[in-house]
Amino acid sequence: MALIVQKFGGTSVGSIERIEQVADKVRKFREAGDDLVVVLSAMSGETNRLIDLAKQINDQPDPRELDVIVSTGEQVTIALLAMALIKRGVPAVSYTGNQVRILTDNSHNKARILQIDDHKIRSDLKAGRVVVVAGFQGVDENGNITTLGRGGSDTTGVALAAALKADECQIYTDVDGVYTTDPRVVPQAQRLEKITFEEMLEMASLGSKVLQIRSVEFAGKYNVPLRVLHSFKEGPGTLITIDEEESMEQPIISGIAFNRDEAKLTIRGVPDTPGVAFKILGPISAANIEVDMIVQNVAHDNTTDFTFTVHRNEYEKALSVLENTAKEIGAREVIGDTKIAKVSIVGVGMRSHAGVASRMFESLAKESINIQMISTSEIKVSVVIEEKYLELAVRALHTAFELDAPRKGE
Ligand code: ADP
Ligand code: ASP
Ligand code: MG
Repeated sequence: MALIVQKFGGTSVGSIERIEQVADKVRKFREAGDDLVVVLSAMSGETNRLIDLAKQINDQPDPRELDVIVSTGEQVTIALLAMALIKRGVPAVSYTGNQVRILTDNSHNKARILQIDDHKIRSDLKAGRVVVVAGFQGVDENGNITTLGRGGSDTTGVALAAALKADECQIYTDVDGVYTTDPRVVPQAQRLEKITFEEMLEMASLGSKVLQIRSVEFAGKYNVPLRVLHSFKEGPGTLITIDEEESMEQPIISGIAFNRDEAKLTIRGVPDTPGVAFKILGPISAANIEVDMIVQNVAHDNTTDFTFTVHRNEYEKALSVLENTAKEIGAREVIGDTKIAKVSIVGVGMRSHAGVASRMFESLAKESINIQMISTSEIKVSVVIEEKYLELAVRALHTAFELDAPRKGE
């Protein structure tokens, strides 16, 4: 008998029919003798709808009140699933984050889980009940409702699995595993049998939204066996593992991630003196704006150009901070661009292969795609390109690194 935490995403609980289907599935596991904790998202589209309502009152809603409203989406689905289970003769009980006591810090809209009280859940499991928990939400030490950031139900699932020392955390979604890249963009993408935590962490942080990045961090830190599976199709899914495969077998690239969430800012003609990077980025970080990629050009005529990227939501704010800095330090001009995209290739296999970056640049050059910025780490290479070339770039790289699924008959 195993203890399994199962998380079902928004499309998997998107209608009454789907919730009934989830209940059938949970019942089967229960009948096989497993202890089950089920974590749910809100119905698909519901969180967006709630955010939109809030924004009709105020474009920048009060963060505490926003958590109060967006956390309601999950409260609906957990009650419906518990009812559907009870209807099937399966004892079940639903809990909000507050009721379990998923204690978080007080950073509204992006709270971090600090502690989980597993008391109630354990005694329900002991009594033979399936425990259904609202994903995405918690409570701070003063009793305020908090939420964990978009996609946060994944993190609730993994954190509960860690707290309960579950045998496995299963993330059920609308794809049958983690693919070499988003299958919606590249139909030839292939499901990965396994992917390492390290690679999954890069993929998630570079834009693959199949798992929320914090959930992967949690799973790696607490060694939670984690699997991504399709909610309604049978199959082995993708296992997120610690071990790297034998190097002989290792593909150079495991996956391609991309995101359209960033914007680029450039400050031109900056007098090139020591401390210039600090003068530019200090005020940006003081304004609580996170910077991702950074490039400083070699000085020419004693001035330099400096470019960095931020989240698109923070573009306007960053632009006005940078314009102030430009005046103060006597820079020539500030320019910005929101129509960019970042494409990254990821793989532990690239550690042992020279020339991965040049192969990437070559294949982008063949498509006449200009690279605006580059950054590398041990297991990834990222480039910033013009947004309109994003899909072309991802497809070209997918082919160049031999990730395309063999066509039928081959
Ligand atoms: P859920 O609502 O179940 O949490 P999400 O929409 O958050 O589902 O995540 C699943 C989606 O992630 C898929 O429909 C797919 O389009 C997208 N996705 C992006 N990158 C990948 C990838 N590498 N492998 C699988 N799916 C991916
Ligand atoms: N409902 C939340 C969202 O849409 C959390 C989740 O689905 O994981 O972001
Ligand atoms: Mg998700």
